[in-house]
Amino acid sequence: MSYQGEKGWKDAGRMAKFGITPVQHHPFLSPAAASAIAAAHGTPCYVYDQASLERQADAMLAFPNAFGLTVRFAMKACPNASVLRLFAAKGLHLDASSGYEVRRAIKAGVPAERISLSSQELPVDFAELLSLGIHVNACSLLQLERIGQARPGQQVGLRFNPGRGSGGTGKTNVGGPDSSFGIWHESADQAQAIAAQYKLKVVRIHTHIGSGSDPVVWQEVSAASLALVLRFPDVVTLNLGGGYKVARVATEKGTDPQVVGAPVKLAFEKFAAEHGRALRLEIEPGTFLVANAGAVLCRVQDVVSTGIREFLKLDSGMTEILRPSLYGSQHPVYLYPAQPTGRTREYVVVGHCCESGDLISCATGEPETLAARALPEAVAGDLVVIGGAGAYCAGMSTKNYNSFPEAPEVLLQTGGQFQLIRRRQTLEQILQNETSPTGL
Ligand SMILES: *Cc1c(COP(=O)(O)O)cnc(C)c1O
Repeated sequence: MSYQGEKGWKDAGRMAKFGITPVQHHPFLSPAAASAIAAAHGTPCYVYDQASLERQADAMLAFPNAFGLTVRFAMKACPNASVLRLFAAKGLHLDASSGYEVRRAIKAGVPAERISLSSQELPVDFAELLSLGIHVNACSLLQLERIGQARPGQQVGLRFNPGRGSGGTGKTNVGGPDSSFGIWHESADQAQAIAAQYKLKVVRIHTHIGSGSDPVVWQEVSAASLALVLRFPDVVTLNLGGGYKVARVATEKGTDPQVVGAPVKLAFEKFAAEHGRALRLEIEPGTFLVANAGAVLCRVQDVVSTGIREFLKLDSGMTEILRPSLYGSQHPVYLYPAQPTGRTREYVVVGHCCESGDLISCATGEPETLAARALPEAVAGDLVVIGGAGAYCAGMSTKNYNSFPEAPEVLLQTGGQFQLIRRRQTLEQILQNETSPTGL
């Protein structure tokens, strides 16, 4: 399907003449595209932009490296098969967080050799997955031991917690003593002993601490990780994980891969000069590749006032985008009034769940503090676009809460074409696994 142009909306000059403030547009989801997609697939609906996905992939494929680079998309950020295939076609590999994600990627057509598993929970069928040719990073000593018992001689990676972390909040910090992810760096001796006992060949060191956009942190983490590489002579690859921030709203700072990658490249070159080992670099971005390439398209359901506050209620919320309620994260909100009045109002934007914490506009890092947004005056039925919703939204939400069905996903292609890549769930699908024991 496609939509017809931007009639009327781009005519800011004409609007100004009539004293109407032009409505701010989402970068890829214009009012015309939003109306066409809403008409075809209803709201709420996720929309991903192919050009943005490809642009972000290109930026990561250009990450500075000394001796080769593999970019893995951390598929938990947006696991739809069409997104996986789009990235696979760009030459990206995948990072899977569970055995189910590995199977999902294989079903999408991604070859097993391009999939790496780093999981909090070793899948029950991990030995079979390994026999298919996937890569594995042991994320604990017990995982390493179990891999050794099941497949002595297996090539493995070791995911270490290098002892420091970096993340927006306590909930997003994945390194340091307060994080359970990975083998604690002081347990490297034990890891070595287990690997030796089962003749496991440690070919890769992995760290993922969510390093963010600070090049100094990247420098420290690559130094700590290279120190671990020294202890394992068969290591040929160092994986530095994901955590490349993007700016969803103007007050946030995004990561420039060229800036954070430059000192990493130097560190690899220095390591090669000192130790004669030319290491391949692996990175695993999730957020960076998809966050600003996705949006939630929804509608105003209601506008209610308490005298002090005016609330804009959406036909979406934590069922599609949980991040504000979970982390207090900031997402831009664009309102496209069907009849623009030119006036702006201060709205608290809330979701449709019977849950006071179902908020879209909250204070930064404070999921329980309401924050109003200045938006064009709205009435029920007006379209709303929530930006920065490509990562950890469709894949991470309070699915089926209040029995709302999973929203569909649409891919917006160049030239105004768009395609459904996941249908809206039906009530029957929500109920399909409930059973009726006798007497009930
Ligand atoms: C989640 C995850 C990533 C991606 O993190 P982002 O912050 O989305 O870039 C990469 N590697 C591993 C092991 C992860 O668990």
